[in-house]
Amino acid sequence: MRGPDVPVELVRARSGPVSNSTVTGKTATSWTGVAANHPFGVHTLPYGVFTDAAREQPRVGVAVGDAILDLTAAAAALLPEHLTLFGSGTLDPLLAAGRRTWTAVRAALTEWLTDDRYADVLAPLLIPATAAAMRLPFTVADYVDFYSCEQHATNVGQILRPDQPALPANWRHLPAGYHGRAGTVVVSGTPIYRPPGQRRLPDGTIIFAPSSALDFEAEVGFVVGAPPVSGRPAPVTDFANHVFGLCMVNDWSARDIQAWEYLPLGPFLGKSFATSISPWVIPLDALASARIQPPPRNPCPLPYLDDSRAEPWGLNITLEVRLNDHLVSRPPFAGMYWTAAQQLAHLTSNGACVRTGDLFASGTVSGPAPNQWGSLLELSWNGSSSLALTDGTTRSFLADGDEVSITGTAPGPAGSTIGLGEVRGQVHALVHA
Ligand code: MN
Repeated sequence: MRGPDVPVELVRARSGPVSNSTVTGKTATSWTGVAANHPFGVHTLPYGVFTDAAREQPRVGVAVGDAILDLTAAAAALLPEHLTLFGSGTLDPLLAAGRRTWTAVRAALTEWLTDDRYADVLAPLLIPATAAAMRLPFTVADYVDFYSCEQHATNVGQILRPDQPALPANWRHLPAGYHGRAGTVVVSGTPIYRPPGQRRLPDGTIIFAPSSALDFEAEVGFVVGAPPVSGRPAPVTDFANHVFGLCMVNDWSARDIQAWEYLPLGPFLGKSFATSISPWVIPLDALASARIQPPPRNPCPLPYLDDSRAEPWGLNITLEVRLNDHLVSRPPFAGMYWTAAQQLAHLTSNGACVRTGDLFASGTVSGPAPNQWGSLLELSWNGSSSLALTDGTTRSFLADGDEVSITGTAPGPAGSTIGLGEVRGQVHALVHA
């Protein structure tokens, strides 16, 4: 398939080492015709795994506008020595390959999609995204969920423990988190069944019944690619060598089950029934223009968490939460107190190993204004108020049939927008209870 006119630049990209030719500071155009302001334009280039009518075996794909480039086939044509990276039907081999390969592959993709000379080879390998079924893009190894948004933690403290300080004593000293359930991380679009569980009614009766307080949590997830040597911590300065990219996360939560079980050991069955992630993993390199200083920390964190002299990993991402296509919130990620670099440093500080495919999520993202809150727990103040939707109905928590969509965008180079994709899920009544 490789044409006779494949440019010489590719040879350099294939034989590496490769200079970082990722386009920054200028707007590249693409022979694919993707609009310059498309969230999946040539500055984003997220990776996913798909099947379609002609491809029963899962393929690695790259989103370009409203199309998907079959990267498994493109690599066979243009990067045959890297075929193993894209031939397994998951992103796992690419994740494990490490920073140098991630940069080289992204540079090659940028070249392929912005240089007309590749159009003849690659145009036949573009399929409409609407024709593809997206799959869980990587094997989720371990899953940790943090709690790193000060506004969210403050809201939750005021709701659940109104007679105590809103933030626990440790909150400004360490990024709090809990170990979630990797096996129930599902790809966007997977049906969400209302979980049954044990809970206590206001009159003290203990029952086992479907949750009546099902909620979403709008979060950003980070995907570990190349872990540090087992037992070694990952310092805040090494973040980009270990983390491959980002995805959108909905940490579905049954508030009534959670409220009864969470003392003394934290969230358990109230969250383990499902966690949805977006099908597209956005490479860290696509967020270069979105990096900002995180908010000031007081007190100054201990040295292993101190990022004041490191490159900043605050990220200027804006989330949007829609309930049945009605925009209910726009949580700002920029204000997150603890960065993902600090989360990974903390997670590994005791010698705990992380593995390729580990997923850790930010914690619910909430801003200061009520229309920036990232959960119904906050938006309805634990059911004490309700949200009016445009169809005339109201919600305190999710009803069967409700569909939740969480999207994210960030500034890209030269005024472009980097899309973080969408995680979507519809609530269904439990069928086997
Ligand atoms: Mn969460």
